[in-house]
Amino acid sequence: MNKYDVIVAGAGSVGVPTAMALAEMGLKTLVVDRNPSPGQGENKRAIGGIRATHSDPAKIITCRRSLEIFSTWEEKYGEDIEWLKGGYLFPVYREAEEMALKSILPIQKEFGLRIDFVGPAEIINIMPGINPEGLIGGTWSPDDGSASPLRAVNAFYRRAKGLGAEFRFKERVRSILVRNERVAGVITDTGEFHAPVLVDAAGPLSRELCKSAGVDIPVTPDSHEAAITEPVQPFFTCMVVDLRPGPSSKNYYFYQNRHGQVVFCITPDPLIVGTDKRETSLFLPQIGARMVRLIPRLKNLRVRRVWRGLYPMSPDGSPLVGWNRRIQGLVHATGMCGQGFMLGPGTGALVARLITGKLLEGDDIVLSAFSPYRKFGGGEALK
Ligand SMILES: Cc1cc2nc3c(=O)[nH]c(=O)nc-3n(C[C@H](O)[C@H](O)[C@H](O)COP(=O)(O)OP(=O)(O)OC[C@H]3O[C@@H](n4cnc5c(N)ncnc54)[C@H](O)[C@@H]3O)c2cc1C
Repeated sequence: MNKYDVIVAGAGSVGVPTAMALAEMGLKTLVVDRNPSPGQGENKRAIGGIRATHSDPAKIITCRRSLEIFSTWEEKYGEDIEWLKGGYLFPVYREAEEMALKSILPIQKEFGLRIDFVGPAEIINIMPGINPEGLIGGTWSPDDGSASPLRAVNAFYRRAKGLGAEFRFKERVRSILVRNERVAGVITDTGEFHAPVLVDAAGPLSRELCKSAGVDIPVTPDSHEAAITEPVQPFFTCMVVDLRPGPSSKNYYFYQNRHGQVVFCITPDPLIVGTDKRETSLFLPQIGARMVRLIPRLKNLRVRRVWRGLYPMSPDGSPLVGWNRRIQGLVHATGMCGQGFMLGPGTGALVARLITGKLLEGDDIVLSAFSPYRKFGGGEALK
């Protein structure tokens, strides 16, 4: 009874779609999560942005697959995950960002993205009320969008369960069971479960999980804050990303969801390494000032709620996906940084193909770029 083809540690942005993809391929799958229901780790802390507009081909390929899944979900399965094809807008006010964004356009187009650098008039048309002073233009990718992280993860969960995947909640994987350098299963709070393959989808806790198998992986949590406003009449649909640095911060981004609420988030600089999830009094004044400078009409919006969550950060801002070379049967699907929600479904499908040996054309590009054994130099331009 306790025997499975694959055990997935973690029912989050990555673990749940991975279980769904494994179940679709007919594998007997068990998912274990210490939380009471799907997505209660970092998944529900994401603001819901989904884009394929990256500079790294591996992320473009993976997120294009994710976009396919998110954008067709309701049509295929009848469940509303609040998908909104609002596009991504990167407005530009300085030459530095103009050059950076223009330099990655060729690779983005080569990998099939519908994206262009457009002038100020079009930017103002897409984002009414944006500050026109000094606006140079920006990139616009209309096929990107957003969805509700909790609705999406629950929709994937229901499908995975419907296909036979089993879930054990409120149960911690205490250690990965290894015999003769091979995965044999897991030891949880309630007992042993056996499988020859274990997917590490534990997000910011991956390092801790893998240590139980004597494996050290470079995933370090750092904390990020986000907030949501009261609902108002919809007046824009895109995700706006302002790449300019500000006081103690790098980029920030926001969009208006289908309920009319503006959801926003900022990247602190330097990063706040650790697992502290307590909200701060610094975040709102910091991001509020920057957002109101960019879109002055936001100034009267009232904030309903602030929260803080963790990015499972890798040294170069890209995920770690692939077989562990020492412990046979251990697959890493972690290190998603600030993009695990958008990378989740594409990564899950890839992991299922990796486990079943049914890789597709293009998978080699992704697996090589996301290899846990790559050299961690450099970093992606749009991380
Ligand atoms: C403020 C904020 C905004 C963000 N906005 C976006 C966004 O717009 N778009 C985007 O794509 N991403 C966004 N992210 C990032 C995204 O939330 C993460 O990258 C993503 O959730 C990571 O997915 P994961 O599956 O690796 O981890 P999680 O979703 O955290 O899942 C890991 C699961 O593993 C479980 N677990 C861990 N260890 C164990 C164990 N030993 N035993 C049992 N269970 C275990 C946890 O309980 C958890 O449920 C944002 C993050 C934050 C904090």
